[in-house]
Amino acid sequence: VKISQTKDIRASNRLTILNHIISNQPVSRAEVSSKTGLNKATVSTIVKEWIDMDLVTETELGDSTGGRKPILLQQIADAAYCIAIEISVTKIRVILCNLANQLIQHEVLPIEEKGFTVNYCHLSSLLEKMIAQVPSSPYGIIGIGVSIWGVVDLDGVIRNIPQLQWRNIDLKKLLEDRFGIPVYVNNDGNLAAMCEMKRHPEYADMVTLNIGDTISAGLVANGQVIHGFLGFANALAHHTINFTEKTPCSCGKYGCWEQYCSNQVVIQKMNEHLDQPIHTIEEFIQLVREENPDAKEILEDFIQVLGVGIANAIFILNSEVIILNSKIISAFPYLLPEIENHILLPITQTQEFLISDLGDYSSILGAADQAIQRFYGELANR
Ligand SMILES: [Zn+2]
Repeated sequence: VKISQTKDIRASNRLTILNHIISNQPVSRAEVSSKTGLNKATVSTIVKEWIDMDLVTETELGDSTGGRKPILLQQIADAAYCIAIEISVTKIRVILCNLANQLIQHEVLPIEEKGFTVNYCHLSSLLEKMIAQVPSSPYGIIGIGVSIWGVVDLDGVIRNIPQLQWRNIDLKKLLEDRFGIPVYVNNDGNLAAMCEMKRHPEYADMVTLNIGDTISAGLVANGQVIHGFLGFANALAHHTINFTEKTPCSCGKYGCWEQYCSNQVVIQKMNEHLDQPIHTIEEFIQLVREENPDAKEILEDFIQVLGVGIANAIFILNSEVIILNSKIISAFPYLLPEIENHILLPITQTQEFLISDLGDYSSILGAADQAIQRFYGELANR
């Protein structure tokens, strides 16, 4: 027991030091020691290990106060690369990035037919090409992170993507068998939450809401993403807000929040008033800017129904902050106070709202992060 405890503490110190370097680089050993509370000898030993592994390097960029320039530490971002895939309802996106999440390549495959097999064929030939072209580096491709707009169980098996009717697909095994690279599959909402958590470490409890073609949510409590018993604790989109609804939701239930609060719904409602249909949310935003009366009314309804859903989220989780990722809200940030008015004020006065600046990248970068964290974690545990 003693040995494994010592080993665990060592691994945890290695990650603490590495994470401090990554978030504060370039940074001196002395600062790492004072900020992490670890003594100088431990910091020196562990920094040397990361340097020997080609993952941290020394620079002399620090400002000098007359004497010799301090030696600073920074991450070697190009020591390895990772691939992230996002499977949404209409397209598959694939990115190649380095250990600092910097994009090297970004590809989009439209989903023209819904069947899994045909899309898997397109995806794997794209991956083959990408892997062949990856720049050379000490570690090569260290993982493939996959973000799924649907239900993923705790083993990473896709249980259901309702809009595509993909059920019980072990994409992790398929990709690992084919490419021999570790694969990590998770739900898009959970991954977006991980990505926001990394950017806002000051909050230990948060709800992240991504309002796009669907709604995806992420729940974080005590710094941990809540997955729940089967892995779909974050399915806030499918809370019933209208039990008299006659049209079924993609999930099979009736009257889910997502049926009233998504970009698709807004576009659909707008098209009921237009001779020339619009296809994108940007076109709708433009109509609001032009003061189109129908667009303004649809926007009002959107705000109201968004407020109802957020209030439900607050009552379930009572998080410290809600981070909204929505093109509509980003276009009209002055709407935030109006949303707050739609929420029961006496109880939720202290709730904080932030608008996410990650746009379409929150879940795919979260997927990349997941692979990167596992890579560092495994090295720290050696
Ligand atoms: Zn539903």
